[in-house]
Amino acid sequence: MPKLIVQKFGGSSVANVERIQKVARRVVGYKNKGYNIVVVVSALGDTTDELIELAGQITSDPSEREMDMLLSTGEQISVALLAMAIHKLGKEAISFTGGQVGIMTDGNYTKARITRIEADNIREQLKKGRIVIVAGFQGVSSNQDITTLGRGGSDLTAVALATALQANECEIYTDVEGIYTTDPRIEPKARMIKAITFDEMLEMASLGAQVMQPRSIEVAKKFNMPLHVRSSFSQKSGTVILKEVTRMEDALITGITLNRNEAKITVCDVPDRPGGAAKLFKELSLNGVSVDMIVQNVSHTRKTDISFTVAKTNAHKAIKVTKKAAARIGAGDIILDENIARVGVVGIGMKSHPGVAAKMFDTLAQNRINIEMISTSDISISCIIQKKFAEKAVRSLHKNFGLG
Ligand code: ASP
Ligand code: MG
Repeated sequence: MPKLIVQKFGGSSVANVERIQKVARRVVGYKNKGYNIVVVVSALGDTTDELIELAGQITSDPSEREMDMLLSTGEQISVALLAMAIHKLGKEAISFTGGQVGIMTDGNYTKARITRIEADNIREQLKKGRIVIVAGFQGVSSNQDITTLGRGGSDLTAVALATALQANECEIYTDVEGIYTTDPRIEPKARMIKAITFDEMLEMASLGAQVMQPRSIEVAKKFNMPLHVRSSFSQKSGTVILKEVTRMEDALITGITLNRNEAKITVCDVPDRPGGAAKLFKELSLNGVSVDMIVQNVSHTRKTDISFTVAKTNAHKAIKVTKKAAARIGAGDIILDENIARVGVVGIGMKSHPGVAAKMFDTLAQNRINIEMISTSDISISCIIQKKFAEKAVRSLHKNFGLG
């Protein structure tokens, strides 16, 4: 049996005809080496954003079913064009939608979860020697509706297919060379990380590193499917994401993250009795607002403030819901701050080494940056600070933790 490789190409890798042809040449190169290949592609360039924008011109409240119907078309364009480009190179290739290859999902439009993958179709085509091209980001629900898997969902398609087909390799091609110690646009001294664990990558992605969709890493971790993130514009080897990494030097921290897409909401003077937080956060969740960090202090005055962060895109909805809930629980003012940023340090090394928090806070203090909220997990610490200090914070943390 030839080795099976799943290769995913992101939107920037197929942004125009020239790039599609380049992808085709790369895929054919692997085919010529004797691999069986399943290719997953995203929509061309910014197509998905453009489609969202188009819908926005018609209604501010589109039906989610129709949104999925609309957005899934982006990936259909890419698969067909890539198949044609491969045909041009004299190889057999066939494109499919998610539904056609049996990517079954639940009925949660715009953020569906994959429930099962049939993939018989793919196996059959591979047997015939064809390169199989699958539209990323989409599936089909049990009542035959097209669903999408959340923004960046082509990563998930690739990982899920690699798992279902028991692929030997899963490559994620993107427009950067791999995973960096921090965003190189902010810190030019950022280094590419050769190998990183699923847990670290998951943490980096959820704290704002935008290279991969967090859900796809969860699935890769669950099924122990190593991923290889690399650039479609070069031959460099990129970053491997896997279960365990042996590092020569005992680095305390693997990466520094930054997220500027959150907003902070503070509810003042919440009466200190059971049920207040429950009512507030239940209301938020019922309205589909997911909450990230939450901070509430002990009260010495029978009243306390609760602060939490939400995605900036959800801030206005969150404020509306919070106002209603606050009135019901007898809380005071509500403050919205959209000028915040979250900086984080991530590293499996902190499990066995104390002092990471102290060093992080000290670095921020040296730069006279005030910490507004703190959150920790066993391999990360993150702080909410004012946005204007974000880049400075990232650069000094990068330096002080010896990542440069
Ligand atoms: N085209 C979709 C998006 O932009 C899916 C993806 O790119 O992975 O979110
Ligand atoms: Mg995309």
